[in-house]
Amino acid sequence: MLLENMSYVEVEAYLIEKDIVLVPLGSTEQHSPYGLIGTDFITAEAVAREVGKRLDILVAPTLCYGMSQHHMGFKGTVTLSPETMVSVARDIVVSFLDHGFKRIVFINGHGGNIEPVKTAFSQLKYENRKGIFEIISWFLLPEVQEVERDIFEDKNGYHATPSEVSITKLLRPEAFKTKPSEKKRITRNNVYFPLSREEFKQAYPDGRMESAPWLAKEKYGKLILEEAVRTVAHRVREIMKMKLL
Ligand SMILES: [Zn+2]
Repeated sequence: MLLENMSYVEVEAYLIEKDIVLVPLGSTEQHSPYGLIGTDFITAEAVAREVGKRLDILVAPTLCYGMSQHHMGFKGTVTLSPETMVSVARDIVVSFLDHGFKRIVFINGHGGNIEPVKTAFSQLKYENRKGIFEIISWFLLPEVQEVERDIFEDKNGYHATPSEVSITKLLRPEAFKTKPSEKKRITRNNVYFPLSREEFKQAYPDGRMESAPWLAKEKYGKLILEEAVRTVAHRVREIMKMKLL
């Protein structure tokens, strides 16, 4: 059930039965020469929409921009400032609360979004807003990481991972016709976070973070996407059962 395809009359009818909405959240940022700039929102949207279909719940339009300042050393990256990201997350939640939604769940595809979104949740609770606000980052779920380890062993890394690249390869095969596939070295860095754009580029010159995106395959994408959908759906079902105070 996609919010973008509904009328307000249909949303009113939905709210009589249910009070949950999923909001896919990603980024527009470099994913090395091997991966798509849209990787994080493409994956988050795919997970959220399939979960929405299986649980028959509403999925809002995807937020395709996130907090990606550390990737700004690479062309094509677009970032919201940390303050803007907090405000955007807050305003999205407040809009849904105003209409009577009580469980707002961000399905997230990008690590940089987690802290600002959680800050927005804290701010909303400080303002005494009622409701359940959650962010589920599919790539951090232990069940998903186990599948990734089985397939890629210690080569998944932290950015431009063969896992996320496999999912986008499955979903957008055409876009990979122009991407490289040769192997490169994986350098392990012991760096601090957060990093500025210059520090990031110094530590990770081609935009990968200890990953081997050339290992990506559509068939792996299918397995990982299914595990992500299964696990996120389980978490969302738990959220639907939680008692509202
Ligand atoms: Zn990513």
